[in-house]
Amino acid sequence: LSDPMLSEAADELIKTRHYNAEWAITTQGQILSAQFESIHDPYLRERGADIDQIIEKVLRRLSGTPNLLQKSVSLNQSEALIVVARDISPADMLKLRDARFAGFLTDLGGPTSHTAIVARSMNVPAVVGLGSAHSLVRDGDLLLIDGLNGSVLVNPSDAAIAEFRQIRSRYIEKRTRLQQLRDTPCITRDGIRIRLEANIEVPDESEAALAVGAEGIGLFRSEFLFMGRSQPPSEDEQYEAYAQVVKAMDGRPVTIRTLDLGADKTLVDDASVAVNPALGLRAIRYCLAHPELFATQLRALLRAATHGHLRILIPLISHMHEVVASQKALQQARQSLIDEGVPVPERVELGAMVETPAIAVAVEPFVDALDFLSIGTNDLIQYTLAIDRSDAEVAHLYDPMHPAVLRLLHHVIGAAHRAGKPVSLCGEAAGDTQMTAVLLGLGLKEFSMHPQHLLDVKSKLLSSHADALRNKVADALNRAVRPTLN
Ligand code: PEP
Ligand code: MG
Repeated sequence: LSDPMLSEAADELIKTRHYNAEWAITTQGQILSAQFESIHDPYLRERGADIDQIIEKVLRRLSGTPNLLQKSVSLNQSEALIVVARDISPADMLKLRDARFAGFLTDLGGPTSHTAIVARSMNVPAVVGLGSAHSLVRDGDLLLIDGLNGSVLVNPSDAAIAEFRQIRSRYIEKRTRLQQLRDTPCITRDGIRIRLEANIEVPDESEAALAVGAEGIGLFRSEFLFMGRSQPPSEDEQYEAYAQVVKAMDGRPVTIRTLDLGADKTLVDDASVAVNPALGLRAIRYCLAHPELFATQLRALLRAATHGHLRILIPLISHMHEVVASQKALQQARQSLIDEGVPVPERVELGAMVETPAIAVAVEPFVDALDFLSIGTNDLIQYTLAIDRSDAEVAHLYDPMHPAVLRLLHHVIGAAHRAGKPVSLCGEAAGDTQMTAVLLGLGLKEFSMHPQHLLDVKSKLLSSHADALRNKVADALNRAVRPTLN
C-alpha cells in the first residue's frame, strides 16, 4: 500500500482528474494488474493478486462496508449466526474467536488444516471443504450443522430440526457424564498408565486444559501469537504469554513449540509466497533463516521457564544439522541472558516434532540427541501420503490408518521407549476416538489433544486392554494391512 506505484499514482488521479478516492485506486489497480498479467514469470505474475487484495481492503474501508473481523460489527446476539465463507485463514479464524459465532462453514480446507484446528479449539461446530456452500447458501437461510459428521442441512424440515435437537441434547448429556472422569487416573484395564495432555493455541486455553484434568500442555502452538499482525511480538510480550501458561499449569509440564510459520500459517505482512509452501521455508527452516526472530523467542522461553516446567519443542525437523543448529541457538540465547544477569533455569529439555518421514524412518540418532519426541501426525500423514492437509479435494485420501503411517508410528514409539525417552503424539489423531485403540496398540503412552477431546479419549482408554491390542496391531503391521480391532 505504501508503494508509490499504487498510492502516488492514485493521488495524482485525484488531483489532476478529480476522481474520487475509490475510483482513483481502482483505476490505478487495474493498470498495475494488467502489467502483472503480462509478466512471463509465473511467480511474479501471481503477485498481481496481492494488489487486488489490498485494493479490496482499501475499498471496504472507504465504503464503510462492515468487515466481520472488525470488532465494531454489531451482531444481534439473540440470533445464532453462522459464518459461511469460501475460505478462512487460520489467523482470521483466531480473530473470530471473540466474535462468538455459532458455527463455521467453508468451501475449502481439510479437517486437519489449521483453520479447522482453531475452529475445533473454539468448541463450535464447523464443517470445511464443502465445495460450494458459499455460493449456495443465502443470507438469512436457516442452517443445521452436524459438526461431528461434517454435514449441513439448509432450511431443514421441522422433523429434521426436532431430530437434531435430540441428538444435541444426548451429546450435551454425554459431555456432562464424561466430566466426572476429570480426576480419574488414566489407567488401562491391564494396568498401563497413560498420560493425557492438552494442545493449546492461545494462553487462555490453559484454563480449558485444567478443566478437563489435563496433566500438562503437550503442544502450545506458539505461532498463533505471531499471526494476523504486522510486527512479531516482542521478547517481553512472548515472555508474558509463555509465563502465563507455565504459571497456570502450576508445575505440570508445558511443552511450547517454537514458531511453526509457513504453509497455511503466515504473518500478515509476509508478501512472499513459496511455490509449494508446505515443502518450503516452514517451521524450523524459517526460524534458522531468521536467526534474530528465533533468538528472541528462545530468550522469552528460557525466561518463562524459571516459573515452572517448560519444555521446548522444535517443529518439522528432518536433518540432524537442524537439531545441532537449534541446540546452538538455544545455548547462545541462554548465554546472552546470563551475560545480562537475567535468571535462567539450569536446564531446559529440548525435543523435536516427528513430522517428516525422514526423521521417522531414521529416528535413532534424533532420540539420542534430544530429550523427548512428539509425533505430529497431521504433517507426518501429509508428507507420507503426499496429501496437502489444507486441500479439500484430497481430504478423502488423508488416512491415519494407512499401514505405512502406522509402521512409522510404531518405529518411532518403539525407538524412543527402547532408549528410555518420552514420546508423545500431538496430531489430531490423538483426539480421535476411532484411533485410540490403534495408538494404544502401537505402544503409545502419552497423548496430547484439544481439551474437548480429552475425556472422550480417556473414557475409551479406561475400558481398553493395551496388551491384547498390541498383539493385534503387531500382526496387522507385519502384513502391512489396516488393523481391525472391533
Ligand atoms: C502435526 O503436524 O500433527 C502438529 C501437531 O502440528 P500442526 O498441526 O500445528 O502442524
Ligand atoms: Mg505440524
